[in-house]
Amino acid sequence: MRSCEILSVGTELLLGEIVDTNAPFLSRELAALGIPVLYRGTVGDNAQRLGEEVRRALRRSDFVILTGGLGPTADDLTKEVCAAQMGFSLVRDDRALAQIRDFFARRGSEMPASNLKQADVPDGGTVFYNAHGTAPGMAMERDGKCLILLPGPPHEMQAMFRESVLPFLAAKDMGVIASHTVRTMGIGESALAEQVSDLLEGSNPTVAPYAKMGEALLRVTARAQTDADAQALMQPVLAEIRNRLQPYIYGIDTDSIQQAVVYALAEKKLHIATAESCTAGYIAGRIAQVPGASAVFDWGVVTYANTVKQNLLGVQAQTLKTYGAVSAETAREMAAGALERSGADIAVAVTGVAGPGGTEQKPAGLSYIGVADRRGVEVTRFETGRDDREYNRNVTASRALYLAWRRIQNIGEDK
Ligand code: ATP
Ligand code: MG
Repeated sequence: MRSCEILSVGTELLLGEIVDTNAPFLSRELAALGIPVLYRGTVGDNAQRLGEEVRRALRRSDFVILTGGLGPTADDLTKEVCAAQMGFSLVRDDRALAQIRDFFARRGSEMPASNLKQADVPDGGTVFYNAHGTAPGMAMERDGKCLILLPGPPHEMQAMFRESVLPFLAAKDMGVIASHTVRTMGIGESALAEQVSDLLEGSNPTVAPYAKMGEALLRVTARAQTDADAQALMQPVLAEIRNRLQPYIYGIDTDSIQQAVVYALAEKKLHIATAESCTAGYIAGRIAQVPGASAVFDWGVVTYANTVKQNLLGVQAQTLKTYGAVSAETAREMAAGALERSGADIAVAVTGVAGPGGTEQKPAGLSYIGVADRRGVEVTRFETGRDDREYNRNVTASRALYLAWRRIQNIGEDK
């Protein structure tokens, strides 16, 4: 990826007499193009220090954009220093000279002799003619490095950037970067990477896997001249990913699993109920994070103690005694009880060991997640593999939401 650096030139910037607005403007414009700005610097009107800064910038960045110091006075040295650095000689440019003369003529005055030097441009460089002032901007390219010089006055610099530099950069194949994030659950990061290993080799678009709090994500990124071109490059790859990982993908560019759940419920006009032991409200809380949750969620209970599991959900004393609170049987009865007592279309129930500690048979991170709907109850045994209470509660809540989401997908299809 080609990187960019911005250098603001002017002693008045260092003295704090003027505030640098050029660099933030350029940063924003470049970011919108998907060109990363990795450094920004400020240097005074001093040939030696400016030379040092330009050399340093050229070592670490492919593109260096300088603003300021293109004027007619002795302290305007940016062009001279940069040309010397890049090994360009300066030659008078007739068109630039005519433009400068014209600029003064329109104001009813003669061009001062000192302005002559503004018509000097690097021999073999690119000239950006200035329709809004005197000094032309310019670009010098050598060995894959590029210096772009723009005038200091913001209105001239901005106009020149938009009118001349943007097309110049576009022709340099800098283009735009666009990306999509495929969000999956129920498959580990390495298993996911294996399923799409051939796609990970691609260079445009690139496909990169990463893991985040019990989820495995794939980021697909393309670079092209326009956003539409970038999207077109990504479409076949996204289609292939969808094809291979269908059951695990809960969303592309979706914010979160809870958002996917709420949207899926809303679309089918269904209501969900929650019954939580070890997560103690995390699932309900996550659902409530999504704007519009009240349309799909009106019933959730925390049943921490066994007696409460019995009283609120109708879990059998015998079940708790025989299998224990953390068991598939208890999860099944919790989910069935929540469905029946809430009147919802789907109920999700969790019982587990948050940790720290646990036993060999029931280690920290083990949970049973029951999902019930009118067709029956399905229980899933889930292990996070970690002895970390907060992590376990969070990741277990995520997994419960994911299992609910999967179930919601086929509700109604068999009606
Ligand atoms: P000029 O022909 O006007 O001398 P120049 O290209 O030599 O233009 P400078 O002399 O560095 O540019 O700056 C001219 C004026 O432009 C400054 O006095 C200031 O008002 C404005 N300016 C320069 N650099 C910046 C900057 N980084 N941010 C905001 N304003 C700037
Ligand atoms: Mg100046």
